[in-house]
Amino acid sequence: MRFEDLRLSEPLLRAVRSARYVDPTPIQAKAIPLVLSGRDVLGCAQTGTGKTAAFALPILQRLSERWGGAKKPTGRVRALVLCPTRELAQQIHESFRTYGQNTGVRGTVIFGGVNQNRQARALRAGVDVLVATPGRLLDLMEQGLASVSGTEILVLDEADRMLDMGFLPDLRRILAHVPRQRQTLLFSATMPPPIRKLAGDVLRKPVPVEVARVSSPAPQVDHWVYHVEKPEKPALLMSLLEQTHTRTLVFTRTKHGADRVVRQLAKAGVSAAALHGNKSQGARTRALSEFRSAETPVLVATDIAARGLDVEDITHVINYDLTPEPETYVHRIGRTARAGAAGTAVSFCTSAEHADLRAIEQLLREPLQQAGDPPKSVEPPPAPRREVPVRAARSRPRGSGAGRSSKRGSRRRRSSTAGAVA
Ligand code: AMP
Repeated sequence: MRFEDLRLSEPLLRAVRSARYVDPTPIQAKAIPLVLSGRDVLGCAQTGTGKTAAFALPILQRLSERWGGAKKPTGRVRALVLCPTRELAQQIHESFRTYGQNTGVRGTVIFGGVNQNRQARALRAGVDVLVATPGRLLDLMEQGLASVSGTEILVLDEADRMLDMGFLPDLRRILAHVPRQRQTLLFSATMPPPIRKLAGDVLRKPVPVEVARVSSPAPQVDHWVYHVEKPEKPALLMSLLEQTHTRTLVFTRTKHGADRVVRQLAKAGVSAAALHGNKSQGARTRALSEFRSAETPVLVATDIAARGLDVEDITHVINYDLTPEPETYVHRIGRTARAGAAGTAVSFCTSAEHADLRAIEQLLREPLQQAGDPPKSVEPPPAPRREVPVRAARSRPRGSGAGRSSKRGSRRRRSSTAGAVA
């Protein structure tokens, strides 16, 4: 299947070509014709599958088709995309801008944590596509600064995370102002019962579109686990990062935990930034852009802040703390091995986290590969980095370095970067 087979208009095909996409991803091949035909869609897909283009391209086509090339854009919100975080909202908005560059469709993005004046001005000037987080949109609606009563197409993206974050009441209040007569697309990485219930309420005869197994991570990720106790984690992290020369995303359970890890790394001379909800929008944007440009090779994030993070070439995800929700593990790992690349996931598991590990392995239907002994040192290593008192060779996941080739073709598909973290 090629993009040209999807009945997309020439301006969109040109944008796709300039984004250097060769072929549509599976979710794009499935969803684009459905959205173009006006059907409601229930999409089960994680980030990294190309789902943004799967809804943005056909929405742009539908919106521009109706102008018939002659009529001017109306300036009212005709497509509304709701998503859980500022970062995701920004990314979706930028995707609409990229794909819609030749269409004349206008869009804007609104989210909390920043002054609302610029957002209100953009809305007043008139937009066709509005990407928003629910809280700020509701705020602006209540002040009479935003209206969604002209919505023709509604997208709920990362619906499971919106529910996890407690956005359901806000969502319902927004939905009460959206016309019933509309096309609705709902995307979620997981489909627990509350999402099915929401889908039942907002979708009409939806076509289910599923890519990969429900809640399965990309197949080209290598999963490793280290059994360590809490005091050993800083030294283990350092020893892993020492040998990683690519972008690494580290997950902690709490915001304080993320700050603590960044401080420990800074002491050891490793440049890292924290991404979490207590950071100002400016600090978050800066952390992201420095991570994107590889100026800061390590980003330490909480789950909510990293949700939907779209940075190319994240080769390693380190779960400094495991998560009690196995689906969250899948989301975390979804940050690596994007769009067909290979990735490595390394988890630190303390004795208190064994149950979490078992739940993850149950969801993956496979055990994580056991890495070697953790380093003996319990102290965060001092700078300079060459003095790090860890025995790197023993902390290396089996299968890395020289041992890797002998493991090739083992039950899990190995990647060229597999094990490069250690
Ligand atoms: P998403 O799942 O929408 O977050 O997209 C993940 C990444 O895949 C983004 O960096 C997109 O730019 C990229 N992408 C989307 N569609 C394609 C495609 N057809 N071919 C190659 N890359 C793509």
